[in-house]
Formats: sequence, structure tokens, C-alpha cells
Amino acid sequence: MTYPVTLIPGDGIGPELAEAAVGVLEATGIGFEWDLQHAGEATIASEGTPLPDRVVESIRRTGVAIKGPITTPVGGGFRSVNVALRQALELYANVRPARSMVGVVSRYEGVDLIIVRENTEDLYTGIEHRVGPDAAESIKIITRAASQRIARYAFEYAVRNGRRRVTAVHKANIMKLSDGLFLESCGQVAAEYAGRVEFDDRIVDNMCMQLVQKPELYDVLVLPNLYGDIVSDLAAGLVGGLGVAPGANIGERAAVFEPVHGSAPKYAGQDKANPTALILSGALMLRHLGETDAADRVESAIRAVIAEGQTTTYDLGGRAGTREFAEAVAARVRGA
Ligand code: NAD
Repeated sequence: MTYPVTLIPGDGIGPELAEAAVGVLEATGIGFEWDLQHAGEATIASEGTPLPDRVVESIRRTGVAIKGPITTPVGGGFRSVNVALRQALELYANVRPARSMVGVVSRYEGVDLIIVRENTEDLYTGIEHRVGPDAAESIKIITRAASQRIARYAFEYAVRNGRRRVTAVHKANIMKLSDGLFLESCGQVAAEYAGRVEFDDRIVDNMCMQLVQKPELYDVLVLPNLYGDIVSDLAAGLVGGLGVAPGANIGERAAVFEPVHGSAPKYAGQDKANPTALILSGALMLRHLGETDAADRVESAIRAVIAEGQTTTYDLGGRAGTREFAEAVAARVRGA
């Protein structure tokens, strides 16, 4: 079986990380037909846009993309490629696992969270305006359809991955109608999974405190867009930060896998940056494709190489370059 996959190397450190991730993914023995699509800074000069139509068309064709970070030019002109891709492909679920790793310095052990963030509505629909010179208003949109869709994604994820509990995070005590509808929708979906997956809920401020005090008690969290944005970064911080945080944007017909971090331009071309987040995003892609065994092998190989601490990148206290680290992981994957 060969999988067609759109490969977007991205800007800054993106191309070297993409090369590293491709090497590790191919070491699993699974066949990939990479459709290489450049987007970002380079295509602004040559094609007048950071997101040419051919990129979206490629993902519509393959259904799956792995993507390096893309620089968002400061000062306007172009929209964020990431936001544009989410909208064009209706990638409604943003999924970020946050799992402790031996060898990655952090304040906590035993964290194993899956953050499922609704990606299409809430305060991110961009409906805001000034009300006279001294006031502004942003509209928060919550619908039953989008709330049930994200809740169902979270429960299905829990069932597929043997997770025990889904926690809905909200502020329904204050936003009784909008967050109340989100919570009610999650509860309706939860009833379909009774006996298979537990369900509870937390008010977002209390959730943040609980995550900082006892993150190991939580499992899958499902959140509206804004809380999801904030809590997913908090969760990345619990397990050691950006270099090791993978992500996925999932829709009905397409999925884009990408690291949480940006293009870190100051390290571009130096064979220095940590490819872990992009490689782990590749493992999420393997899981999405149903290649669970290969995904497990990639994740175990990364964990083993980082735990040994002989071949890690600068951010984890080591001296290995991007390529050397990726080769060590690929060798493990082959040997596993
Ligand atoms: P950044 O994540 O690129 O870098 C912040 C710092 O984190 C870096 O200076 C570096 O010290 C460290 N870092 C990040 N990734 C690392 C890695 N893989 N290995 C080792 N260290 C790493 O954030 P930024 O500087 O705010 O953003 C730079 C550009 O990236 C901006 O144009 C921003 O818009 C863009 N961005 C893109 C995405 C995306 O494409 N999904 C996400 C975030 C930021």
C-alpha cells in the first residue's frame, strides 16, 4: 500500500525538518507518494501568494498533508496560510497531544493529555467592530452542529485510542447561552458513549489551575476555539514546550499534520533545530491513516533516543544536529 501525501516543507527551519521527518516516516517501510508543494515566503515572490491554489488542490486530492511551519509576514498584505488552509479545507478539529517524555526537562511527570479544540467558530469568526471611538465588540458564535461535531470527534478519538474519559471545558456559569449550548451539546454526544467513555466537565479557569496542579488526572479535553487555543499551549508547556509539541488539523475530507512551533528563522539552514514535533506530527498522520503499528514504532523510537540523551538537539541540552538526530531515530525505527 502506498499513500499519496502532500508535503509542504514551509519556511525557515521547515525544509530541514521536513527532510528529517520524511526520512523517519520512510524508515517504517510504509510507501509514500510525496506530492511536494511549496507555500509561504518563497511563493510570494514567484507566484504572488503564500498559498497558491495548487496547494489546496493537492490536499483535496491526497486527503492528507504534512506541513512545516510557515512565516506569517508582519504588517499585513497576506492572511495566515494556516488559517486560510483551515478554512479552505474545513479542518474543524485541532488536536494536540501533550505527553511527558523522559529526557525532556519539564516540571511534571506522567502527563498524557489530548487537547481537542474546535477550529471553526467561537470568537475566531472575525465578526468584530468598533462601537464609536472608544468601544469595540467581538461576536462569539457557538452552534449545536459544530459543538456536537467536535464532541463526537473527541469521543471517537477516545474509543479508537483506548482513552477512558472526555472532559468538556467551558465557562457556562457566565456565558450561559453560548458556552451553555457547547456544554449541552457535549453532554448529548456523551450519552451515546455511556458505558464506554466517561464524561465530565470543568469551568475553564478551574481547569487551568487543575492542569497546573495535577495534570496527570486528565485525559481527553474538548474545548471551544478560544479556550482550546490557550489551554493547548498551557499543555505544551507542561511537557517541555514547543520543540516537542505535534499537532493535527482534521476535517471530514482532509487532514493537515504540523508542529505547534513556528519557522524559527534565526536557526534556518543551520542543521540545528529539533525535528521532534514534526516527526511526532508524522506519527499522528500514520495513526490517522490506520498505520497504528508504524505510529507506535516512530513514537517509541523518538522516546528512546531522547531518553538516552546521547544524540539530542541543542534545545534538549544535546549537541546533535537535526540530521544526526533524525538518523538516530530512523535507525531505531528500522531496528524495532
Ligand atoms: P517560533 O516557534 O518560530 O520560534 C520561537 C523560538 O522557539 C525560536 O526562536 C527557537 O528558540 C524555539 N524553537 C521553535 N521551534 C524549534 C525547534 N523545532 N527546535 C528548536 N527550537 C525551536 O515562533 P516565532 O518566532 O514567534 O515565529 C516565527 C514565525 O513562525 C512567524 O512568522 C510566525 O508567524 C510563524 N509561525 C508559524 C506557525 C505555523 O506555520 N503553524 C506557527 C507559529 C508561528
